[in-house]
Amino acid sequence: MADPCLACGACCASFRVDFAVEELACNGGQVPDGLAVEVTAFTSRMRGTDHARPRCAALTGQLGQRVACGIYEWRPSPCREFQAGSNACDSARARHGLAPLSDSML
Ligand code: SF4
Ligand code: SF4
Repeated sequence: MADPCLACGACCASFRVDFAVEELACNGGQVPDGLAVEVTAFTSRMRGTDHARPRCAALTGQLGQRVACGIYEWRPSPCREFQAGSNACDSARARHGLAPLSDSML
């Protein structure tokens, strides 16, 4: 079965995505520096995720149709830990007019 996330992307356009500065490439991590903004001396945020209408700068494609993470191999830990089918997933999908994943997939 196809990965439902490839036809969604709602979580990449709903929440602030914050992570430890150690995950930045400039600090020996993998997240490209140019796609992050400084929050504190210890925390960075994916660019675009704190806008009034959030959308991560790394997200490509059309939300709810076909999307991809432009830095999938290098995405930060919150993205790796986010669970498809979780309450947060359903909440993000609802925000973008998409039915809960649990209704159709799980
Ligand atoms: S909101 Fe859920 S289904 Fe959509 S991309 Fe994120 S984890 Fe996948
Ligand atoms: S880094 Fe990738 S997976 Fe994480 S919020 Fe941005 S587009 Fe989504």
